[in-house]
Amino acid sequence: MTKPKLKTCSKCKVVKPLSAFYKDSGSPDGKCYWCKDCTTQRQKELEEKKMTKQTGETSSKQVSKSENLILKIDFTHYQELYEKLMNQAKKDYRSPDMQVLYWIGQKNIIEEV
Ligand SMILES: [Zn+2]
Repeated sequence: MTKPKLKTCSKCKVVKPLSAFYKDSGSPDGKCYWCKDCTTQRQKELEEKKMTKQTGETSSKQVSKSENLILKIDFTHYQELYEKLMNQAKKDYRSPDMQVLYWIGQKNIIEEV
């Protein structure tokens, strides 16, 4: 007879059997930190947020089109460049993200750094 392994959900703090957690290969015990209920709940919340965000924004068309494009740039060591970017974005009526894409497109950013 083996005892079912238990795990505490780090979201709702409820102790549940491992079967109540989704698999996660990136986790030390191979299970998600959150139980299935919390994960499902969270996903629902995210979906709803996404919906309201898409309908609430004026540039929603562009946002949804480039959804697969994730741009992450660490400006920690480029404070000056970041300020430049923000100023230029304001001047050109772009969002900072679009400004970065624009710069990359122009390849100016490489010369600037
Ligand atoms: Zn939970």
